[in-house]
Amino acid sequence: MSHMPSAHHDEQAHDECVAALSSLQEFLHGELDENAADTIRTHLQACATCLDSFDVENAISALLRRCHPPAEAPSTLRMRITSIRVTHFDG
Ligand SMILES: [Zn+2]
Repeated sequence: MSHMPSAHHDEQAHDECVAALSSLQEFLHGELDENAADTIRTHLQACATCLDSFDVENAISALLRRCHPPAEAPSTLRMRITSIRVTHFDG
């Protein structure tokens, strides 16, 4: 599971993107330690490439569905990702 599918458009995958996305499943499953999870959160909040190129939105939606009812609105994806941090501290 060391290679993500090449769903990106123009090749702009930096090492940070590869690292973040390769750990995305673990991140979503809460299997990362706090430092690693925070690294990914920070990256996804900052990196449009990851958000745009991979199935992050779907994954985030699945994650948040545990805590919140679905609220489909692609423009709020960044806000939803930010809410992960809130959820994290909330419990
Ligand atoms: Zn990225």
